[in-house]
Parts: sequence; C-alpha cells; structure tokens
Amino acid sequence: MSFHSFIAELQRWLMRLMPGHCPLCQCPTLHTSGYCAACIHALPRNRPCCYSCALPLSSVEEGLCCARCLRRPRFHHATAPLLYTGDTPALVHSFKFHAALPAAFLLAELMGKAFHPPQKAWLLTVPQHPHRARQRGFDHIDWLATLCPSTRRMPRITAHRRYDTPPLRHLDRRQRLKLMKDAFSIETDVTGKHIVLLDDVMTTGATLNALATLCRQQGARRVEALAIARTPLSAWRELHTAS
Ligand SMILES: [Zn+2]
Ligand SMILES: [Zn+2]
Repeated sequence: MSFHSFIAELQRWLMRLMPGHCPLCQCPTLHTSGYCAACIHALPRNRPCCYSCALPLSSVEEGLCCARCLRRPRFHHATAPLLYTGDTPALVHSFKFHAALPAAFLLAELMGKAFHPPQKAWLLTVPQHPHRARQRGFDHIDWLATLCPSTRRMPRITAHRRYDTPPLRHLDRRQRLKLMKDAFSIETDVTGKHIVLLDDVMTTGATLNALATLCRQQGARRVEALAIARTPLSAWRELHTAS
C-alpha cells in the first residue's frame, strides 16, 4: 500500500468513527464520504451526454454523439459523470486547492461508478507542471487516479508537461488549442495501446485534445477521455463573455 493509499484509508476509518457535518449543507452525516445523501443526490449528473466528448445532450437516448463529433469524433469514448455546475465546482475546488480528502473520496467514488476500465487499457494522468504541483503541495490528478477504484490498478503511461501554461478558463477554444500544442511529452511507448487520459474537469477539452493528438501521433490505437466533470458549453460561453 502506497503512502497516499494508507493516509486515505486512515481518513476513511476516522470518518466512520467520527462522522461530522456535510461541508455543503452542514447537516450531520453518517456517510463515509463525509457528505450527506441529499447533497450527493443533488449533484448535477451529466446524462445524457455525447459518447465521444461527454458534452451534455438534450436527447434522452444514450450512446449518441454531438453534432461536432458526428463530423469528427474527439475521442474513442469520453466519461465525465458530473456537470461542472451547482455544487460540483465547490467540491472540485476543495479537492484541488485545499486537498480536502472527503471531497476527493466522493469525486473518486462517483468517477469509479461511471467508468469501467477497458481490458488492457493504460492510464495517462494529465501531467502538472512541477511548479504548479509544488504550489499545491501535491499532484491532484495523480491523487484522483490513486483513490478511484476503477483507475488505481491500471498500468500508467508517463508523460511530462514541458512548460507551464496560464489558467485556460478565460481563453477561447482556438487560443487554448494553440497554447497546448507542444505542451507535453510522452516517455512511455504507446504504440498499439489503448490509452485513457484522466483530467479533473473537461472544459473545451483543449488539454485532453493536445494529449490525445500526441498519443495518436506516437501510434496509440485508441484514446479515451475521463474526467470528474464536464463544463456545459453554455456555462463556458457565459464565463468567456463575462471575462
Ligand atoms: Zn449535505
Ligand atoms: Zn461530442
């Protein structure tokens, strides 16, 4: 058991022993994830969504693609169980910037329920620049991969971020794609492999697209995307217009 897994198990044990209050509504909770059942139930689920890029769809049918992916599929498959609206940003923020274990457990658990790893697939966690990881004190995506029951046993592909990129949320899709081109290098041979790319939140998908392109250029057979949450296009446009 790794050090991170040991600390996670210890925290789970403590939460079972001393249940506290749900961070979202302050109600007493007995749930081992540290959040109450009502708040977990109220989290916005990303269903139905595009099979290829996880963009929310209005159709009730599963397994469909959005108009853009019908013309040109983004990924072999994409999984993002939550919408990045409602209480999801608060959860992701707690986990990403404050290393809150209850938020990490809950997000990892929800992701684990939605994602079933394909046979012989390899996991590539979106690499953080060492400067960012040092600022936060940990690599939150690597942590997520370790906590999620569906990804923790997958073999890993090693990749590096060549340069630090500024926060991408206020850039449009074209600016993001331009910035992310050449941002990564992959150390492991990916020839013929089925790769699952893991990120925290899929917004325009520029980061995952850049890594997917690199994997394909280096001979990967299939590239999937996996994230905790997907930003609906409408929310992203509002953010961009407001900036
Ligand atoms: Zn609650
Ligand atoms: Zn799509």
